[in-house]
Amino acid sequence: MTEHTPSSHLFSGGTVDHYAAVITAALGALTDRVRVVRRPRSGAAQEDLEDLVAGVDLDAPLGNTFSALKETSRLYLEHAVWFHEPGYVAHLNCPVAIPALAADLLASAVNTSVDTYDQSTTATLMERRLVAWTAARAGLGPAADGIFTSGGTQSNLHALLLARDETLARLPGGTLPAGARLRILATGQSHFSVAKSARLLGLGADAVVPVPTDERHRMDPVALAEAAARVRATGDVVMAVVATAGTTDLGRIDPLPAIADVARDLGAWLHVDAAYGGALLVSRRRRHLLDGIERADSVTVDFHKGFFQPVASSAVLVRDGATMRHVTHHAAYLNPRGERAPNQVDRSLQTTRRFDALKLWVTLRAMGADAIGDAFDACLDLATQVAEDLGAAPDVEVHSAPTLSTVLFRWTPAALDPAVADGLVAGIRERLFDEGEALVARTVVDGRPWLKFTLLDPGTTRDDVRAVLDLVRAAGAELLEGTPALVREEVLA
Ligand SMILES: *Cc1c(COP(=O)(O)O)cnc(C)c1O
Repeated sequence: MTEHTPSSHLFSGGTVDHYAAVITAALGALTDRVRVVRRPRSGAAQEDLEDLVAGVDLDAPLGNTFSALKETSRLYLEHAVWFHEPGYVAHLNCPVAIPALAADLLASAVNTSVDTYDQSTTATLMERRLVAWTAARAGLGPAADGIFTSGGTQSNLHALLLARDETLARLPGGTLPAGARLRILATGQSHFSVAKSARLLGLGADAVVPVPTDERHRMDPVALAEAAARVRATGDVVMAVVATAGTTDLGRIDPLPAIADVARDLGAWLHVDAAYGGALLVSRRRRHLLDGIERADSVTVDFHKGFFQPVASSAVLVRDGATMRHVTHHAAYLNPRGERAPNQVDRSLQTTRRFDALKLWVTLRAMGADAIGDAFDACLDLATQVAEDLGAAPDVEVHSAPTLSTVLFRWTPAALDPAVADGLVAGIRERLFDEGEALVARTVVDGRPWLKFTLLDPGTTRDDVRAVLDLVRAAGAELLEGTPALVREEVLA
């Protein structure tokens, strides 16, 4: 097959041999690269990468895919950030399951859109089985439903939209009393997408009322009840309580049973953001940490975190499937009223939507849920060991014992002014990123900056992380050379 007619680049029965050759070439470029990768990123400077990308003339095509792939390898594969490298301990990114990669290849080529049944058939049925499977693992009951989404941010928005419309529907007359506002109760550790969703839903920037936490940064249920009482005393309406099962920074799991009691007494929608901790649903040793999740009205689970799925793969689940009607819009050309087909567009904020569920399906059929859970458990075990190592190091301050797989710490060699140690946090992270050998994250908790290890690779060893710690020390020491006052100014800038 030559590449000279307009349709010769398009996937079909007539081009399938060419497709196979191209995919084989892409596979070769990828495997050649991954075999030699030894660090999470190349270490190339941003200005050089900007020049590299700007140097491509998008209006001067190379004419064939093999040349385009070579160029892409130079631009993308050589400078990608590799989450499977043991030096990558920055954000909630995971190495991906190989069965899922094979599934993605199929889903991309078939190009199914799981909006209507007539575009997807078994794909819709398979997605619906996985929604039911996940909801059953969470214990959401016989009326549960849900939908795959592009991520936890979208799942949280979707859940809070349902909470808003359900809350309004239950108010007398289906509307808010004059002057009253809808309020969401969540802690300061909740994901920023909760506040962003409130804004998108038209609730105002101050719609999220912060609930105090206990000394372990988990929602305090007594403080929750008090905060709700204060909201009601002003005439406002509690629209939702958002509990987090696995906070992004500390991995903390809010006390779900006690929070569910308060939400029940309030008659308020309970959303559990388990984007990160949701992988405990398949843990054989730690499933109990999610006890109480079965009482949620809605749950967010990210499969592209602890389930080792490629981006994007997430789901929002609801206890009462009837609440999904709030996102249904009947369009004559898509899902006419009265049609009995299982059209997922009736449940989704998106219309055209990738068959992202296939990745999880093939992973479950190949590996099984227990193996996924064991891999997540290995990350959590590693986090405990790493926290021990950091705690034993005389020049390191650890924030606290981990709940899931994040560890917050700071490099604090003896006699270093604490303000300088704080100032070094940003500089250390930046220097490591610039060099590319190890990537760590940084965050602010309790008003102080921390370095963060996020461990989501079950193949990473304690020694691998010790090696990253040595790089942290070296970066810190290099930054300290020169006068401390100057360094402080520089790294605090
Ligand atoms: C990661 C995360 C999110 C956001 O998920 P995305 O998939 O990145 O959109 C939401 N909540 C929590 C607790 C998270 O850890």
